[in-house]
Amino acid sequence: MNTRKALASTASILVTAGLALVTGGAPAQAAPGDNLAWTATPSASYTSPWESVAAIRDGVDPPRSNDTANPRWGTWPNQGQQWVDLTWTATQTIRAAEVYFFDDGGGVRLPSSWRVQSWNGSAYVDVAGVSGYPVAADRYNSVTFTAVSTTRLRVALQSGAGSVGLLEVKAHTNGPTTPPPTSGWNPPANLVTPLNQVWAHQEQTYNNGNLYAFRNYGWDQLFANRGYINYCVRWDSSASVTAAQRDQVHAALARQYRKWIAEMAGHNGFPYTDVPVRVVGWAVRDRAQLQWTDNSVDVYVGDIRENAPQCGAPCGRFFNQSGQYPNCPGGAARHYDHSLWLTDGFGGGAGGDWGQRMGREYFMNNVNAENMTILLHEIGHTYGLDDFYDWTPSGVGGFIMRAGSASSITEFDRWMLRDWWRHLKNRYGY
Ligand SMILES: [Zn+2]
Repeated sequence: MNTRKALASTASILVTAGLALVTGGAPAQAAPGDNLAWTATPSASYTSPWESVAAIRDGVDPPRSNDTANPRWGTWPNQGQQWVDLTWTATQTIRAAEVYFFDDGGGVRLPSSWRVQSWNGSAYVDVAGVSGYPVAADRYNSVTFTAVSTTRLRVALQSGAGSVGLLEVKAHTNGPTTPPPTSGWNPPANLVTPLNQVWAHQEQTYNNGNLYAFRNYGWDQLFANRGYINYCVRWDSSASVTAAQRDQVHAALARQYRKWIAEMAGHNGFPYTDVPVRVVGWAVRDRAQLQWTDNSVDVYVGDIRENAPQCGAPCGRFFNQSGQYPNCPGGAARHYDHSLWLTDGFGGGAGGDWGQRMGREYFMNNVNAENMTILLHEIGHTYGLDDFYDWTPSGVGGFIMRAGSASSITEFDRWMLRDWWRHLKNRYGY
């Protein structure tokens, strides 16, 4: 796979973690503080036929209110009172919401006002103790309120200069998600020694001592793009894919990717609070496996490498590490940084600068899981984080980069990621 040696050796032992997750990893209720919306079923008063109400909980943080790239919900040409509902199968305790308004500068504009309502068993009623309902473009608008226990939450919008729309809605048990404060290198005291051990170990072992010479870490790809990541899916499978499954794969990638990025937001000069993740292509053996006819993604058929379908080399970052894509038919905008390589019957995972690989069954069985452990672990490798099969840093227990010892990103993982940023950031001018 032309992956770096330190990463190529990881595939077999992670099987342990993979099996543990498959048997015990049914999608769980979101942990306190996390966004509850993604576990809800969305519905709306009206949705324009070319828009999607599912977009409001797809986990994609929009880059701006006039977002032309990601799915969104809109009501054009309908105006007046419009709403979206989030419906859960079990009662949720909710005390905060965040909404990101869609405003295309034309027929869909910011609302004149909005409010949050909860279902009391027979009717929707306004939540109480409201902190306020800001209406601003290009950011999340947050509201806190007296906690409600409900199975349904409604965001009601009153139209203003046009129809209305939403790019994303979040609901929280513990308050709005706020990035950590900007700060320098200040890890907890008990992690200083193990972090120094890890960095010294990586300097000695990575790329035959050329850790700093390697120029295709996830960091390099992210900064070459100035803040987004494109994926292409290598569908190394005989299964067919519905349009809904295609969108679920995208949403899962966006959600999981954000968990790592959220650890960086606001930290030590890292400039991005959000990294939009797009899926620009799918590679298959037979076009008939893909059960959609629209042109939302590029489709690569029968381009076989490593005995698996691959997305076109002219569009792939791995093959064009200069960041130039002169022979990519769609140009640089349709290039892909990472491959998500999903193989029937594949155990464990592998990750590197080329992307991440795991079992097709594992990925699809966990597509709605809050933490897709193997994907998170392999994205960690894409950003340079090492494995820990033969040694353990002093005084730290389970963490996701030590396969099998944690199912989600831990504080030690967070600080290992931040340590990579500390050591590489000057290469990007920070
Ligand atoms: Zn690994």
